[in-house]
Amino acid sequence: MTRVPPLDRLGRPLGVLRLSLTARCNLACPYCLPDGVDPPGLLSSRQRLAVIEAAVALGAGSLRLTGGEPLLHGGLEELIAAAGPLRQRGLREIALTSNGVLLSAERARALRAAGLDRITLSLDGTTGASVGRMAGAGGADPGERARRGEVLLAKVLAAIEHARAAGFDPGRGALKLNAVIQRGANDDQLLPLAALARERGLELRLIEFMDVGNRNGWRPQAVLSAAEMVERIGRRWPLEPLGRGAHGTASRWCYRDGGGAGSGSGHLAVVASVSAPFCGDCNRLRVTADGIAYTCLFAAPGSGLDLRPWLQPEPDPGGLREALAGRWRQRHDRYSEERQERQPQTFHRPAHAEMAYLGG
Ligand code: SF4
Repeated sequence: MTRVPPLDRLGRPLGVLRLSLTARCNLACPYCLPDGVDPPGLLSSRQRLAVIEAAVALGAGSLRLTGGEPLLHGGLEELIAAAGPLRQRGLREIALTSNGVLLSAERARALRAAGLDRITLSLDGTTGASVGRMAGAGGADPGERARRGEVLLAKVLAAIEHARAAGFDPGRGALKLNAVIQRGANDDQLLPLAALARERGLELRLIEFMDVGNRNGWRPQAVLSAAEMVERIGRRWPLEPLGRGAHGTASRWCYRDGGGAGSGSGHLAVVASVSAPFCGDCNRLRVTADGIAYTCLFAAPGSGLDLRPWLQPEPDPGGLREALAGRWRQRHDRYSEERQERQPQTFHRPAHAEMAYLGG
């Protein structure tokens, strides 16, 4: 019986469980391109709770609920509430990553009441045209795309205020905004997004365009590096570096002027998987909506551990814990570091499991 939290082959602990609730999404962002359908054999809430319990028993202090789009999952609040008692056993926080389009005031209140601690929303532009483009909305017609984009933009801006009103305080890091920046697609939105986040007191988490999945046409030249993003924003609003926290994915800066009008974070963050990989202390386990455990965002399709033998017909807590511990001990993933070690011209992009399936 595993009593000591397992370390992987690079000495990394299991610290975060990213649990996907669905591979479906209501958007089709070009840097992700979800399947749009769920795999067969989705886990039940009871089976998902068993996975959370096992991960917490192995050292996971943070649970992040993801998708596709997790707000499409009807049992979300029920699962968050059911995971609450695990706070007595080491679970420190429950977080959610959502595109925000479906986040109504009522849903935000219900998530808060269920025990959700943090929400990260996504917005990749500040105009109808840019939001429409980066959400894959409205087909080929630019006019229709911009109109759909305006609607999506309004919904996400409203979702930010619904979350704030429900008690997700940006000043405590309980409400953040993700933005994927792709050179030539939306890098013109960098300063407008920073301005929007400053006005609303939100920590903006900029994400370098990554070679996730197999469909997004990734090229190294389309990556706007963290250094370039910070340099552009810092020319407008001077920044102080704060570094990257242990096991963190983002490096952070604070605005020298405190961050503008909104009484919130005053911080900027960048997830630099391509230009400054952070595999060295990566402590993230991903479990898909159909119960497959993956130990890296860039894992090969089919390389995950199918947990269902320990979840059906009834969850087997001990067997599940041992199976997960065994897989974790075998882990030696460091894809982003390996990508960086290889020269772009010799870099061969291996097949990856799709991001919307893995849960980002
Ligand atoms: S590439 Fe894999 S190992 Fe590296 S930080 Fe990302 S998920 Fe972790």
